Amino acid sequence: MSLPSIQPANGLGDLKFDNSFLRELPGDPEEGPARRQLTEACYSRVAPTATAAPKLVAVAKETAELLGLSPADCASTEFLQVFSGNGLLTGMQPFSTCYGGHQFGNWAGQLGDGRAINLGEIVNTEGQRLVLQLKGAGETPYSRTADGLAVLRSSVREFLCSEAMFHLGVPTTRALSLSLTGDEVMRDVLYNGNAAMEPGAVVCRVSPSFTRFGHYQMLAARGETELLEQFLNYNVTTDFPQLAGIAPGPERALAWFAEVAARTTTMVAHWMRVGFVHGVMNTDNMSVLGETIDFGPYGWLEDYDPDWTPNTTDAQGKRYRFAHQPAVAQWNLLQLANAIFPLVNDAAALEKILASFETNYVETWNAMLGQKLGLQSFEARDGELTDALNSVMQLTEIDMTLFYRNLVDIDVREESASADLTGVLTSALYDPATLTGDVQVAWNGWLQNYAARLRDDQQTLDARRAAMNAVNPLYVLRNYLSQLAIDAAEQGDFSRIETQLDVLRDPYTEQPGREEYAGKRPEWARTRVGCSMLSCSS
Ligand code: AMP
Ligand code: MG
Repeated sequence: MSLPSIQPANGLGDLKFDNSFLRELPGDPEEGPARRQLTEACYSRVAPTATAAPKLVAVAKETAELLGLSPADCASTEFLQVFSGNGLLTGMQPFSTCYGGHQFGNWAGQLGDGRAINLGEIVNTEGQRLVLQLKGAGETPYSRTADGLAVLRSSVREFLCSEAMFHLGVPTTRALSLSLTGDEVMRDVLYNGNAAMEPGAVVCRVSPSFTRFGHYQMLAARGETELLEQFLNYNVTTDFPQLAGIAPGPERALAWFAEVAARTTTMVAHWMRVGFVHGVMNTDNMSVLGETIDFGPYGWLEDYDPDWTPNTTDAQGKRYRFAHQPAVAQWNLLQLANAIFPLVNDAAALEKILASFETNYVETWNAMLGQKLGLQSFEARDGELTDALNSVMQLTEIDMTLFYRNLVDIDVREESASADLTGVLTSALYDPATLTGDVQVAWNGWLQNYAARLRDDQQTLDARRAAMNAVNPLYVLRNYLSQLAIDAAEQGDFSRIETQLDVLRDPYTEQPGREEYAGKRPEWARTRVGCSMLSCSS
């Protein structure tokens, strides 16, 4: 722990730390990054590794505000020093946590924060507890064979997507800052023997808790039932205060599990609403708070393809494809249920919650889909319409985001009941010439049924437009847009990150002059690495 201690005379100096994870849970007696397997402990004390020449790339002012930091605070040299891993504020006690997980369906044993280091927990003026965590700040006991570092491209993606999700209304961890370290990092992007040096970077992430399903699984796998119980009780009192009134014991564990399942339902339904594919939904990448966490080989659906996965590592089995995300979430919850079983000892009660995940998900998703389509409410009869939509959307390449955004312009007048309504699709199609013959007939059939349903609803156009535009974003973090921001940043131009973040601050409102940020994927991006294909290399 040889990092300099920093005492800034600005808002940073006012951050008050209350490191409950360290205080309430047992830690590893050994410090430092030597690799080891933990027993009877939840974390190891380890400091960030100092970097050669840190440079601030971007700050998300909304996240800074959450911490009570002003733009001037964020522009200070102390800010850069601390959030690039080169200094510690009074009260910071850096540590990494131990977790396990199922990767691609297989138990992987101990994983842990291999390149994440928590600096400490603050309680903000609203009383909200927030953990500050650096990603890419060097080796930890959990780095296994890797280097604990992160590169600029993956850090830009994590930074932008965290904030994009927040502004879209999707539960997510937040990003405070993105810095270059000045160090070079070796990566083989496609794992094909073409390793190259890339600029290293660090992101500071912020969340009330970074606790993952895998934290529970690790304790269960080690057979440490007492510590498992202590961990759950810590988690409940710290992060689920609404459940703290239930006495410790099976009833509390079940209520907690039901709450995690409910939050996971909401999170995944939002992913489906905005066309987000996480790409690596391993159980170690599932937050118990139901926040989207670990932005790695994620992607955004452009042409609607339920079978699409952005992750090249997942290209064979497509376990983490778009349409499979709800089922994977349920499978992950099953693993979490197994982990906490020793605290409940009632398989039927856990199974009941798992079974209700499915019904709750369908209900949540139908309600959202109804909103996306501008229906006053989703009715049982609408299942046929939405199933048919899922099919017609796969007949020809159509941009999911633009399709929903444009749909409000459909001609619903009675006198158009035998007209061709497919003009509303044109600007969303990747190749408008494909809209002929049977494809056009099928689409027109669907649009006619939809228009009839809207006539039934008798909502005014203004009301429908407002409702639809509130859930159908115009701007999402399209894969190629991230890549353009990365390309510029790698050349030393960070302005595209700034502008991209600014566009995403208001994703549901048309922003004149920023049409390029709402555009369909250009043809060059269809096959470019980083746009259509991503790997776990980061
Ligand atoms: P994930 O890609 O999030 O599923 O990561 C799986 C595990 O690998 C986690 O324990 C990560 O902390 C760890 N990991 C990923 N990249 C690195 C890296 N560059 N250095 C050390 N650990 C890493
Ligand atoms: Mg991870």
